[in-house]
Amino acid sequence: MNGFVSIRNLQKFYGEFQALKGINLDIAEGEVVCVVGPSGSGKSTLIRCINHLEGFESVSEVVVDGIPVTSGKSLAKVRAEVGMVFQSFNLFPHLTVRRNVMLAPQRVRGLNAIDAAARADVLLKRVGIFEQAEKYPEHLSGGQQQRVAIARALAMEPRVMLFDEPTSALDPEMVGEVLDVMKDLAGTGVTMIVVTHEMGFARQVADRVIFMDGGEVIETGIPEELFSNPKEIRTQNFLSAVLNH
Ligand code: ADP
Repeated sequence: MNGFVSIRNLQKFYGEFQALKGINLDIAEGEVVCVVGPSGSGKSTLIRCINHLEGFESVSEVVVDGIPVTSGKSLAKVRAEVGMVFQSFNLFPHLTVRRNVMLAPQRVRGLNAIDAAARADVLLKRVGIFEQAEKYPEHLSGGQQQRVAIARALAMEPRVMLFDEPTSALDPEMVGEVLDVMKDLAGTGVTMIVVTHEMGFARQVADRVIFMDGGEVIETGIPEELFSNPKEIRTQNFLSAVLNH
C-alpha cells in the first residue's frame, strides 16, 4: 500500500453487472486527481467506494490514510477523513446556509454553537458566500448552493475530498464560480479526487488524470501527456469526441 488512498483490485457488481473490473490506484497525499471517461464507465462508482457509499467485493482492498475501508468499525474513522460533494447539492432546506455548515461539526465533533459558527463563517468567506449566511438554500443560485456544499464538507476538516461531477447540474454560467473554488482548494494541500466532464479544469488543475472506460482504468498520466498525447485508442477516441464537440 503506497498511497494516501490505496485501491487494490477493486471490483464492484450491481447484481450480475460488473461495474468495476479490478481497479488499482495509489493517490498521494495532497494530490489532485481528475477522473474522466464516458458516461457509465464506473467513475462515480469508483469514488463512492472510497467512503463506502457503495460496498465492494471482499477480494478488493481500499485504504485511506492507513485505515481500511470496510463496513465495520473503521468506516466511521474513514468517513471522518473523507468529505464528499455530489452533483446535486443536498443542502438541508430547513436550515440557513450557516447552519448547514455548522451542523456536522456540532453533531459529530461536539463543537459548541459559537465555535461551529466561527468555523462556518471562515469557510463561507473562503467559498465567497459569507453574505448569504442567513439565507435558506432555496434562495441561492445553484452555483451558490454548490459552494455552500463544499464549505459544508470542509467543515469536517477532511484529508480527502471526493467530488462527483460537482458542476454537471449547474447552468453553464455558474460552472466557473464552483470550479474557481475547487481550484483554490487544490492549492491548500487537501487530497482531491474529482469526477468531471470539465476537461479544461482537469487540464489546468489536476496533478494526474485517470481515464476510465468499461469499469477499468485505461490510462493515467499528467494532464499535458494524457490530453496531448494519449496512448490508448479508447482515450484518443474519447478525447476527440469531447474536445471537438
Ligand atoms: P459513471 O460515473 O462513469 O457515469 P457509474 O459509476 O455511475 O458511471 O455507473 C457505472 C455502471 O454501473 C453503469 O453502467 C451504471 O448503469 C451502473 N450502475 C450504477 N449504479 C447502479 C446501481 N445502483 N444499480 C445498478 N447499476 C448501476
